[in-house]
Amino acid sequence: MPIDATLPYDDSNIFARILRGELPSKTVYEDEYALAFHDINPQAPLHILVIPKGAYVSWDDFSERGSDAEIAGFTRAVGKVARDAGLVAPGYRLLANVGLDSHQEIPHLHVHIFAGKPLGPMLAR
Ligand code: 5GP
Repeated sequence: MPIDATLPYDDSNIFARILRGELPSKTVYEDEYALAFHDINPQAPLHILVIPKGAYVSWDDFSERGSDAEIAGFTRAVGKVARDAGLVAPGYRLLANVGLDSHQEIPHLHVHIFAGKPLGPMLAR
């Protein structure tokens, strides 16, 4: 079910539970601002999710309320994860769903990194 990105943050969401160590994840990177782990249901040969450590519902919420340090730290982490995975030369796709029409399912900001094959056009035609 897609979530309404205008609702307040709900800290029972799956990614909040992963951040608290209550649920396992296949971690690929962690620093002060971000955690990156493999998607449980990959949509490409490589599918990594990068989430901020702070409690933000979506990109909208983060861009409005996140501190400059959190935004810089998270943005750099997304780039680093992709770079360290060797994805810059072959290329990769970033995607962040926000709310109902995008079909965002988990109400904690996450950036998808898709890679590992030619990904085709951005949206189904
Ligand atoms: P959204 O549709 O919200 O942008 O993407 C949510 C993503 O989270 C989906 O790609 C889904 O496969 C992934 N996901 C859902 N539950 C879990 C989980 O428990 N662990 C991991 N690693 N990924 C999850």
